[in-house]
Parts: sequence; structure tokens; C-alpha cells
Amino acid sequence: QFLQKYANHPVYNPPRGPELNAKNWQAEAALRMFLNNLTDEVAEAPAELVVYGGTGQAARTPDDARKIIEVLLELEEDESLLVQSGKPVGKVRTHPEAPRVMIANSNLVPHWATWEHFNDLRKRGLIMYGQMTAGSWIYIGTQGILQGTYETFVACGEKYFKGDLRHRLLVTGGLGGMGGAQPLAATMAGATFLGVDVDPERIRKRLETRYLHKMTEDYHEAKQWVLEAKEKGEAVSVGLVGNIGDVLERLLQEGIIPDILTDQTSAHDPLNGYVPVGLTLKEAKELLSTTPEAYKERSLKSMARHVGCMLEMQKRGSKVFDYGNNLREFAQQGGETDAFRIPGFVPEYIRPLFCEGKGPFRWAALSGDPEDISVTDEALKTLFPENKHMIHWLNEAEEKVAFQGLPCRICWLGMGEREKAGLLFNQLVREGKVKAPLVIGRDHLDCGSVASPYRETEDMKDGSDAVSDWPLLNLMANTGGGATWVSFHHGGGVGIGYSQHAGMVILADGTDRAERCLRRVLYNDPALGIFRHADAGYEAAQGNAEKFGLDL
Ligand code: NAD
Repeated sequence: QFLQKYANHPVYNPPRGPELNAKNWQAEAALRMFLNNLTDEVAEAPAELVVYGGTGQAARTPDDARKIIEVLLELEEDESLLVQSGKPVGKVRTHPEAPRVMIANSNLVPHWATWEHFNDLRKRGLIMYGQMTAGSWIYIGTQGILQGTYETFVACGEKYFKGDLRHRLLVTGGLGGMGGAQPLAATMAGATFLGVDVDPERIRKRLETRYLHKMTEDYHEAKQWVLEAKEKGEAVSVGLVGNIGDVLERLLQEGIIPDILTDQTSAHDPLNGYVPVGLTLKEAKELLSTTPEAYKERSLKSMARHVGCMLEMQKRGSKVFDYGNNLREFAQQGGETDAFRIPGFVPEYIRPLFCEGKGPFRWAALSGDPEDISVTDEALKTLFPENKHMIHWLNEAEEKVAFQGLPCRICWLGMGEREKAGLLFNQLVREGKVKAPLVIGRDHLDCGSVASPYRETEDMKDGSDAVSDWPLLNLMANTGGGATWVSFHHGGGVGIGYSQHAGMVILADGTDRAERCLRRVLYNDPALGIFRHADAGYEAAQGNAEKFGLDL
């Protein structure tokens, strides 16, 4: 009955309300968030179990999805489910303060960690690409990256445009699951925006969810709209159907140089993500299924040309940065030897936040009632009245962000703040101020949870970019601390071979048990970020270690 109502593949739908379907709230939370990842409003392609980020999946096959649901419905508080690359493989004996689900996705022994080997295993049904929050069941739709993108654009404005992005044109490629946050983040920051995507359906989804203002298939129309808006200083966002490589070339030919230029196509996967130039979507699909080698070659060459245009724009004054999709590496493989002249966004804008243990803290209302998120927003504003930046962000988000699936919120918080917020949420549940428990999680893109030399750990002060002991320590700390589910993945963001990272989600159900777990996990998790950056020699992190009494 439950399966028919909530998980009749490909129609998934999280249950809402205060009633349990599982035997306890810990398993119920995992169940609701798993189904939320796959629901139509949230997932980019639910029929293929694809949530976002190219082929990032929540479960390996529809049968595995069904089995995960069946086990979660029966799971006791002294058992934990083990999930191997989207397939439930067994239960182990644990205890009520241990994670209810432990997940490992896409991990390969380093020597074999290539897309070729991975794709071969995937074809044989042995592995799944988990991206970051797809396979770890805490994707919350495009809002999940919205604040990070907003912070990045604002930081760019502060560094290069005297803190004012009005009369500035920001151009980018890719309006998919995560890339779709760019238009709203850009307009919130005051800029005029042009985003290019080959797939009109993806652009339409951003219009429907109010992330984007206008869409067109006509280059000239798009150009006219954005140039007029830029002139008037209007924060207008335009989605243009096309290949970003082509559009950049035309802009260059016409001498139109964006003030800011980045990219969020799924370049991390040259086969199942990036669409080469000169092919319609249909032709691209055909080429991929008949001759993948030829597809890959075209893909790499197109990325080289795409980055070549970005470098030319950079020479002509554009502020260009890589936005975490490994475009530079694959452009280099395609022949663009200067690709790494483009800086990565983490060293450029985000690392100072990581040194404070700050990162993308997020939560979801399991009740399904948007009013519960309003209650949490107001409670946070009262808890941190001095944090004007956060209050501005929450006000903007309340007004402009449309929920997808279960109502949720993202808000970057640091060491100390995360623990206080978690305990406050537990209190709200205990006192019945919200209608059902809340779950708290984060992206794997966080201060102490990821090793990714072309992204989060690019250009570390001590050269320790590729050391992946840190995300493993993060996983162990959060498992020991009692997160409600934990995960360890490989290849998220930048693709197979290039990253390893850990995820965690923790339930606030108003109990004393939850309070103990929250105190440990929401202390340990950001502390790992401070340990990692202090150890690498960042003075700001060393200062924060002292400020928060972390025993280095
Ligand atoms: P997605 O697969 O949902 O969307 C990618 C989009 O790119 C699709 O809409 C596709 O049609 C479009 N596209 C592909 N090739 C194109 C081309 N040549 N020209 C124009 N459009 C093209 O992926 P997503 O979830 O939006 O993630 C995008 C990328 O960003 C991924 O590589 C992902 O790993 C990375 N990522 C970065 C961050 C970050 O914090 N910076 C976070 C998450 C994901």
C-alpha cells in the first residue's frame, strides 16, 4: 500500500504530516528524504532515478529503490541499513544513537578511479554515480546551491566591482539542477544575467520555479534584452537555448564582453554530461549510444574551444572563474593548455568562510508544511540578531525562493552557530511549535568534508590538496557522533578520479537522544573544517580554533 501510494516508479512522493509510516522517526526521516530526492518537483529525471549533476542518482535501480523503502519501513532503532552505490546490501546491529543508514557511493581503489572503469562497472550494474547529495538523500532542489552561488557572486562584486553589481552583465552556461540557481543568485546580487543551456526543458523548469525571468531561443532577442537591462541597471535574468561554446564565440565576435563569466554545464562528465558543439540534443544522444569514443573526443574538443573563448574574454577584462565542474581539466585534455589560468571559485572567494567552519547548513520540514520553515526562519533571526547578513539572506529567500518537494531552507552557518541552531530546532519540535520533526544536513561541499584538488581544496597553502584523510575523518567523527545517516562518496562535483567527500544528515525530533546527537555532530562537523584549514597553515582558522576552544 505504501509503495503504491508513495513510490510507484517513476512517481515518487514523500509522505507528509505528523504520522509515522516507519517504526521510528529516524528511519521515517531517511525514508521521506529519500523519496523527496526522487519526487518530480525535485529530481531532474526521476524515471532514471537521476536527481541532479549529470547522472547523480539516489538509488541504483527501481528494484533497489523499492527494497530501500521496504527496509526503512521495518528498520528498528538498534539496526542500521548499509547501502552500496544505491543498492541496499544488509543490516548491521547498532544502537539508537548510531546512524540508521550508512551509505558508500561510487568509491573505487585510486588506480582504477577513472570514468572508463566506472562506466564499465555501471554498465554491468555494479556501481552508481552518487554525485554529492543525490546518493546521500539530502538534495533539496535548486535552493541547495542558491546561497553558495549568491555568496560567490557577491564576493566577486566586492572584490572587483566595489560591492555593486548593478549595470554588470554575468554570463554562464548550464541551467540544470544546480546551475539553475545562477539566475536567481545573480539577480539577488543585483546583476543582469544571461544563462545558456542546450536543453529548453531545463530552462523551462527554472521559469516554473521562479528562478528565471525570461526565456528565448533567439540569440538576438536575448542579447537585446540583457544589453538593455544592463544599461538601465535592471536585475533581469534571461535563459537562452543554445550551446554555450557557440554563444560565447558570437559574443566575442560582436565585442560583447561580460563583466563576470563562469560555467555550470555538467562538464565533470564528458560523456553523460557535457553536450558537444554542432549537435542537436537528439544527435548527441544518438552519437553517445552508437560511438561513445567519438562523443568523448568531440566533447573534449568543444570544452577546449569553450574555455578558449573564456580565456579570450578574461584577456579582454572579464572576471572569469571556474565554478566547480572540472571544465578546466577536460578542456586541457581537449588541447587548451592555458585552461588553468582561470582561477577556481574556492580559493578566489570561499576559503575564508571555510576557515570559520562556515558552510551550507540546510534543513527540511518533514511535516511538508511551509509554515514550519517560516517558524524556523523567525527563530533563527531571533537567535542571531547580530548576524545582519544572515537575516538579509533569510528575508530574501522567504520572498523569492519557491519550494520544491518538502519545504526546506539553506543558510550558511559556521562553528558554534550550527550547534546552537540545531538545538533550537530540536526545542521547536519538542514544544510543538512545528508540526513534525526537522532534518538538518549539508552539501558535501563544506569546510571539512571534502578533498577535491580542482575545487574545495584547490591550491591549499601547504600543498595538501589531494590528501583525502580529512573527509574520512569527517565521516568517522559524524558516525561516532551519531548523525542519523552518513555517506562517503567519490567523484562528486568534478567527476570520477577527482574528489572524495563525506555527507551527513541529523534528525531533530525533540527527544533527549536527538539533543545528545545534535550537540556532538553539529560541533564535530564544522570543527573538522577548522582543524583541516588550521593544519594547512591558515592563520584565520588557527585564530578560530583558539576562539572556539578547539583543542588542536
Ligand atoms: P545538470 O546535469 O542538472 O545540468 C547541466 C546542464 O548543462 C544541463 O541542463 C545541460 O543541458 C547543460 N549543458 C550541457 N552541455 C552544455 C553545453 N555545451 N552548452 C549549454 N548547456 C549545456 O547539472 P547541475 O546539477 O546543474 O550541475 C552542473 C555542474 O556543476 C556539474 O558539473 C556539477 O558537478 C557541478 N556542481 C557545482 C557545484 C558548486 O558548488 N559549484 C555544486 C554542485 C554541482
